[in-house]
Amino acid sequence: MSETFKNYINGEWVASQSGSLIESINPANKQVMGSVQASTKEEAIQALQAAEQAKNEWKKIGQFQRGQYLYKVAANLEANLQDIAQSLTDEMGKTLPEAIGETQRGIAILKYYAAEGSRSDGDVIPASDKDALMFTKRAPLGVVGVITPWNFPVAIPIWKIAPALVYGNTIVFKPASEAVVTAAKVAKCFSDSGIPKGVFNFVTGSGSVVGNEIVNSTYLNAITFTGSSHTGKMIAEAAAKNQIKYQLEMGGKNPVIVLDDANLDNSVEAVLSGAFKSTGQKCTASSRVIVQAGIYEEFKAKLVEETKKITVGDGSDSQTWMGPCASEGQYNTVLEYIEIAKNEGATLLQGGNSLQSEQLPGFYVEPTIFDEVDSSMRIAQEEVFGPVIALIKVDTVQQAIEVANDVEFGLSASIFTKNIGVALTFIEDMEAGLVRVNAESAGVEFQAPFGGMKGSSSGSREQGEAAKEFYTSVKTIFIKSE
Ligand code: NAD
Repeated sequence: MSETFKNYINGEWVASQSGSLIESINPANKQVMGSVQASTKEEAIQALQAAEQAKNEWKKIGQFQRGQYLYKVAANLEANLQDIAQSLTDEMGKTLPEAIGETQRGIAILKYYAAEGSRSDGDVIPASDKDALMFTKRAPLGVVGVITPWNFPVAIPIWKIAPALVYGNTIVFKPASEAVVTAAKVAKCFSDSGIPKGVFNFVTGSGSVVGNEIVNSTYLNAITFTGSSHTGKMIAEAAAKNQIKYQLEMGGKNPVIVLDDANLDNSVEAVLSGAFKSTGQKCTASSRVIVQAGIYEEFKAKLVEETKKITVGDGSDSQTWMGPCASEGQYNTVLEYIEIAKNEGATLLQGGNSLQSEQLPGFYVEPTIFDEVDSSMRIAQEEVFGPVIALIKVDTVQQAIEVANDVEFGLSASIFTKNIGVALTFIEDMEAGLVRVNAESAGVEFQAPFGGMKGSSSGSREQGEAAKEFYTSVKTIFIKSE
């Protein structure tokens, strides 16, 4: 059933004055699965003004009470888990078990930050004067803009909004249009929690109109963004101009190194999962597999054998292991990169074709592997964001790490080896925010800091305790008795 969702501004669900809607398309069958408002910049301004007006009251409510609201949001998400997970599959294409997992993660993140409401918000520090009391206290930043991508429309908004709110900020949330119905259902979990009006605002629309208005607004005290490097750079410029705090999580070109002493079965399984789950559309997806010469042929043969077993189909079908690309644009990008790789001289080892047919009418592409890829090729340098692996052969550990670092990105990286000394060298030398040993490159734990190095991130970290650093500023207090 196709539903229409409104904006949530200053405590009310309201239609856009534009009178226009944005349709969201199910990538498995190209059917419309819901609609949202194609908002105007005036509605973005109304949402920002509502957040501005609400910020002093919300700050005064106190951290403990703010945490209690997040427990209610978590309960609402739990009550709607199946419906929201199904929307996620219908809208973005990931399989239903993956969508359920993401929604459960959203619930866990909400509970984690709800519990922050009852944790310390400062430290007592010994003063040089024995008669003085010195301590720190966290203060909220004010109004935070939240701009998110389509690939994790439940988890990413929640891992930004939950800490922003519990630490006392008010927010304006604009999700990506490709997964906006799911985001609207998440927004409803916030609005139904009884949270005071103006604290949580939700506005849908295009990045160039609504996103641009939020990003450049002088009402903003901070902006948190996840998405492409291109958009991230524009946001950094706007934030610098307005002198506000900003957080950017952007693209990746994540390597997996498989050394001669690696466990073959485990490394193949991890590469399959890291590269092809969510149809390769994770920022931490494995897209370069750097294999040492001694294990190369055996690894390659096993990887191809296992890839051939992958069942591609509608994510709602329990037989499906890999769903479609999330949108027509993404599908076209993947097919273009496959052509680019062939033209650059990489050898197509497996897949490489569209799977669109009468049975599979959506944006389906085969899981694809390229062999004999050189690190300078575009397929080894640029983010494809689809089910495509570039296999690169190396002779030594040092060469493997050099190739792994030879990109502008630095989000996640993994190595398969039994040698602890080599693993330690990799941990030390790898230019990435997430470094994993004998585990796939994809995988994020909400209780630990998350973020990238180099072109993948602005350098700040999200999630876990790191979120507190971004969403607050520290006051140092010194009290002396008279
Ligand atoms: P995108 O940059 O196209 O869009 C992200 C968001 O920015 C959307 O809400 C969009 O509407 C908005 N936007 C676009 N133009 C804007 C503008 N001018 N001003 C303000 N907002 C604007 O990215 P996408 O295609 O939605 O997401 C895919 C990208 O996200 C990939 O590059 C992926 O690697 C990255 N990603 C990174 C992480 C991470 O944590 N590092 C996680 C998930 C996705």
